[in-house]
This record gives sequence, C-alpha cells and structure tokens, in this order.
Amino acid sequence: MKKLDFWWIKAILSTFILILCTSWGFFAHKEINKMAVFTLPHPLMSFYKRHIDFITEQAVNPDKRRYIVSGEAPKHYMDIEYYSDSILIVRPDWNTAQAIYPEDSLHAHGILPWNLVRLTYRLTDAFKHRDAKSILKLSADLGHYVGDLHVPLHTTKNYNGQLTGQQGIHGLWESRLPELFSADYNYYLGTANYVTDIKKVVWESMTESRACVAQVLAVELKLQQQMKADKIFSYEDRNGQTVRVYSYDFSNAYHKALEDMVQKRMRAAIKCTGDLWYTCWVNAGRPDPAAFDEPVYSQEELEEMEKLKSVSSETCSH
Ligand SMILES: [Zn+2]
Repeated sequence: MKKLDFWWIKAILSTFILILCTSWGFFAHKEINKMAVFTLPHPLMSFYKRHIDFITEQAVNPDKRRYIVSGEAPKHYMDIEYYSDSILIVRPDWNTAQAIYPEDSLHAHGILPWNLVRLTYRLTDAFKHRDAKSILKLSADLGHYVGDLHVPLHTTKNYNGQLTGQQGIHGLWESRLPELFSADYNYYLGTANYVTDIKKVVWESMTESRACVAQVLAVELKLQQQMKADKIFSYEDRNGQTVRVYSYDFSNAYHKALEDMVQKRMRAAIKCTGDLWYTCWVNAGRPDPAAFDEPVYSQEELEEMEKLKSVSSETCSH
C-alpha cells in the first residue's frame, strides 16, 4: 500500500514538472527565429521574410523530435560537470571528443556545441546547392540549437534544479519569464555580422551561458526562502486545464533580481542565429536567393510535419 501511495505522489509530481518545463519555451524559440530574420542584410532578408512563418513555426521541431527520433536529445544540451569546465577552454573538435569520451557518455551528457558547428556546415552546403527546402529546415533547426546554447540551464546536469530542491526552475527561467516579460524586451540588434571562426563563437556563447548558472540557481533559492510558500505558485487555465504555475509576483521578483539576464541571453541568441545564417550564406559564395526554387514537399515530408505538429508543447527538456 505504501508503495502505491509513493507511485501516485511521483506521478503527480512528474505531471507538475512536465507542465512547467519546456526548452526555452516554445514561445521564446519561435521569437528567436522570427527576430533573427530581421537582422539579415538584403538580399538574404527577403528570402527569409518570404518564409518567416515556416522559420518561426519550425523553431520548435527539434524539441518535438526528441520524443520520436533517437539520438536527438543530446543535441540540446551539455552537462559541463561531466566534461569539466576545462572543456570550455580546450574546445575539442568532434573527432577529438570521440577519441577522448566513450560514445554512450557523449550521448548521455550532451553534444550541443559539436552538433551546432556541424549543422552550420550542412546549412552552407544547402546554400551551395540552392536547395531552398533544406536551407529553411536547417535554418530553423540551427536557430533552435543556438537558442538552447544561450540558456544557462542547458549547460549543467542540474538542469531543472533537481539536485538542489529547485524543481521547475528550468521552465520558470526559459518559459515563464519570456512569456510574461519579453513584450518589453528591446530586439533592435542591428545587422548580422560575418563570423570568421564559427567554432569559437559557439564555444564562447556556451561559456557565457555556463557563467550564468550559479546566479540562476542562487537567486531563485533566495527568493524561495524569502517568499511565503503560498505566494510562490498560482493557478492558471491553459487549454481548458487548470495548471499550477509560478505566480506573477514570484516570477516578477525573480526576473528583476536576475537583472536583465533573460533579455540579454535572448538578444544574444537572436544575434547569433542571424550571424550564423548569414555566415553560412557567405561561405557558400553568396548565391542569389531570388534564384532559389520554391520548396516543394513530398507527401512523406508533409506527413512528418503533421506528425510533429501533433506533439504537445508541454514537454520537459534538458
Ligand atoms: Zn531544445
């Protein structure tokens, strides 16, 4: 009987965590891809603008794929504790990493920066082949992984505060805060820049995210201790269901105490996405986007997109 009770407690807790925790939040991922389009110079911007709805909607596909495609999950994070912080200085390439770490460890502890660098090669190739369909799909994916790269909690094994009694902090930082406060963010970022060393930029962004982890956790813990327990959470109606969320007051206090961190990370993610899209295009020899064919999708591809659409947004990611 005791065992059964425990099972129910676990089930309720998991449901709660599932509702609270999504990667950058689907809202923020879409926002990052959409805003990155406006950093692009002409003639690239007109091409991306024509397909801005696709780029925006598909921004969340990598998170949806992780529940149906094996090998997708480790592309979204890196548990730096496993590799140790020295990896941020050494910055091994993928071949070196494969020689150092067993493959199952790499897949268990995350391969975000390596996958992202590899994706830029694939996008460059798609530009070289003037393959609009692949350009759009890879651009949307790339924006997603750049987004994850800029989230502090994607660089630690304590990704949902589960090791420090802060379960739910993942969704609080990257879903709840942008959803509540990003309307006031300044997204003016100027024009995308060419990146001479993609690998360096990717690892530097990861280092910046990693440097924020301690503050992300400490500030939330302090607020939890200061605020009365019944003020931390409130209830909201979402898609006809009543769910428990971090209260507005708690979220607002956390957002303020982080001193603009969420806005800064979102701005950096948008700029980095635009920079990398632009860089891949330049590296491909600046093909004229006006000459790209309109993407045509096969029945199978359309079915795949439909399948992904039906994957719930309320998923929990690292
Ligand atoms: Zn993700």
